[in-house]
Formats: sequence, structure tokens, C-alpha cells
Amino acid sequence: MGTTLARRGQLPRSAGHIPRCAQGDISAWMESGEHLTFGRANAEPRAGCVEVVCGSMFSGKTEELLRRLKRAKLARQQVQLFKPKVDNRYDEVKVVSHEGAKADALAVGGVDELVSLILPDTAVLGIDEAQFFEPSIVTTIDQLANQGLRVIAAGLDQDYLGQPFGPIPALMAIAEFVTKLHAVCTLCGAQASRSQRVVATEGQLFVGGAAAYEARCRRCYVAGVVEGHL
Ligand code: ADP
Ligand code: MG
Ligand code: ZN
Repeated sequence: MGTTLARRGQLPRSAGHIPRCAQGDISAWMESGEHLTFGRANAEPRAGCVEVVCGSMFSGKTEELLRRLKRAKLARQQVQLFKPKVDNRYDEVKVVSHEGAKADALAVGGVDELVSLILPDTAVLGIDEAQFFEPSIVTTIDQLANQGLRVIAAGLDQDYLGQPFGPIPALMAIAEFVTKLHAVCTLCGAQASRSQRVVATEGQLFVGGAAAYEARCRRCYVAGVVEGHL
């Protein structure tokens, strides 16, 4: 991995697909939680950044990730989208939102495989379900941002027990921008920040489809309990 990253750092930078953190856009970043630099896409040298999109199940993380990547493509930036192989709920390779929005992705077994598949001209890297990657995803993303990539990681901030999920808390700490989204509580309609597992299966790694979880607010979420009422 280290070699690959070092090699990436030495690659010639091709103008035309290269964003730059432009000081003039800071107010726009603060409002959107998103790195909006399309107007200076050809500037050198590029400065990378980390964006985290987190929240409960159904909060719109995947939709938001796909929206940001679509806008980067509109700005003619080279985009790559990754997901962990373990998430094969809707499709083996595509990233699919609960609403049905789809995008081609590379399904990888872990961080090393992800790094090995990054193309030299890639400027924007999207990672969905980032909570399922091993802890080294944090330093890897940090290094990729140092090398000039805009990395957008979407993932669950809490597991079904309401505990911080895998590398997401650390990614939130190193990110320039963090967007915390909310779903609608299935029971009362309030803002939901928790994912209630409603099938009787234990373990953080159980992915499950839409039928396996409900979005719940703090009051309606039953801490640490699997509600097998379906
Ligand atoms: P996430 O990636 O955060 O799980 P998605 O982006 O895949 O979420 O899906 C968001 C979509 O889920 C919404 O646009 C909506 O159509 C649907 N949805 C289903 N149940 C809920 C809910 N309880 N609250 C909000 N959206 C929901
Ligand atoms: Mg999702
Ligand atoms: Zn509620």
C-alpha cells in the first residue's frame, strides 16, 4: 500500500481534471459541508480534502454521496466510487440507494485492494459503507487527501447497538467537512439518528436490507435491543 501511495504522489499531474481548495469558496463549504471548487478545476497544485457523510440507515447518505459525485463529473473531474464487497444487498457491484438511485462502483475486499485500483487521474474518490473497512482506511484516506484527492466517505456513524461504528468516528475527526444526515423516525416521525435492527440477528457485520432495520429517533430507539417483531 505504502509503495502505491508513494508512486501516486510522483505521478505527473494532468491539468484539466484537477480541483484546488480555493480560499474564495470557504463560505460555500461551511454551508454545504461539501468541497465546492468547480470554478477552479484547472488550477495547480491540487489540494485534497476529506468529507464524511454520516447518519443512520435511510438518512440519505448514499443519495448525498451520489449527488456529490455527479456534480464532480459535471465539472469533468475524474471520479471513482468504491464499496466494500460485504455490502451486496441490492447489487454486487453497483452502489444503490434505498430509493433506487444507482451508480457503477468497484466492490473491494479491503483497503489494499481499494488503493491498488485508484487510477492516476482520479481527482474525486467516493467510498460508500465506509464503516465496513478496516481501521487502516483512516490513514489511507488521510494520505490520499494529502496527495491531492478529494475523498468523500459515506457510512453509518452508529451500529445497531448505538455504538460508534468502526473507522467512521476517526474519519469524522480528520475530515475537513462532516455532514450528519437524519432519517425520519419510523414510529413517531421525528428526526432519526439511530438504526433499530428488527430481525433477530447479532453482530455488527450483518448488513441486511431495508426490512432488517428501522430508522428511529433517540426516544423511540430501544438501546441495544433487537426487536424481532417483523
Ligand atoms: P442511506 O444510504 O443513508 O441508508 P439512502 O440514500 O440509500 O440512505 O436512501 C434514502 C432514501 O430512503 C430516502 O430518499 C427515502 O426514499 C428512503 N427512506 C425509506 N425509509 C426512510 C425513513 N424512515 N426516513 C427517510 N428516508 C427513508
Ligand atoms: Mg447507503
Ligand atoms: Zn421517534
